[in-house]
Amino acid sequence: MTEVIRSAAALRDRVATWKRSGMLVGVVPTMGALHDGHLSLARAARAQSDRVIVTIFVNPMQFNNPEDLTKYPRTEALDLALLEAERVDVLFAPGPEEVYPPGFATRVSVAGISEPMEGTFRPGHFDGVATVVTKLFEMTQAGRAFFGEKDWQQLQVVRHLVRDLNMPIRVIGCPTIREPDGLAMSSRNVRLTARERAVAPALHGAMQAATAAIRAGTAPAAALAEARGAVLAAGFADVEYFDLRGAEDLAPLATLDRPARLLAATVLGEVRLIDNIAV
Ligand code: AMP
Repeated sequence: MTEVIRSAAALRDRVATWKRSGMLVGVVPTMGALHDGHLSLARAARAQSDRVIVTIFVNPMQFNNPEDLTKYPRTEALDLALLEAERVDVLFAPGPEEVYPPGFATRVSVAGISEPMEGTFRPGHFDGVATVVTKLFEMTQAGRAFFGEKDWQQLQVVRHLVRDLNMPIRVIGCPTIREPDGLAMSSRNVRLTARERAVAPALHGAMQAATAAIRAGTAPAAALAEARGAVLAAGFADVEYFDLRGAEDLAPLATLDRPARLLAATVLGEVRLIDNIAV
């Protein structure tokens, strides 16, 4: 049985009991509307921890667009059934006032790595992420945290946060889970129309083509320009960024001289889609 806990105090009691018997706690932070990507994290946590907490909290502080927040899918009853099947011990699903009580005034900000890409197009987003992740780590007292590579910049921001603040937790990155046609799974995919859903895999296709070209010696700038063009030609409304960057520090790369990542953010219809792959 997966126990649903909504208050930080009740969670602390439950975790304290586990810790007294020396158990290693794993946490998987999510915003719910769970899909196989999230469940792959729950499985990794199950395999690598004694007790597993999945959190579901649609964090208002990380939404720069109020409409995106109101339209964010919420499917808690279905989510709980999926977590039961993965033998998750606790679903921690606090309300907004439990996480941000009146008078809440603290903001955690990771400079540098938070600033390009998502930081530019979603101002304040990573402050919201870093703040809520810090709180969730405090509340769950977990020894391991599982994050998806799907949100590559977020994964690097969280790694940086944990290092900078000496948090006693190991961050484990897990591979992106995709639909059979290559589209990265995302809670936002349900908001695509049938026509948009058919177009959506073009993003991953363009990323693979650009990666192959760069590996074969094409200048990154030319390969990236080609990829942007391909995504727009496929029917996307916008390409916010399509960058080649150092895999860990996210510095822009003009040549492929070290481990790199291709990262993109696009708009398809009314939905913002992000993706990234190793180069
Ligand atoms: P979200 O609910 O979108 O905040 O995501 C919660 C966690 O699931 C984050 O660590 C994401 O990176 C991860 N995640 C989301 N989509 C995928 C995916 N397709 N494959 C792997 N992990 C994912």
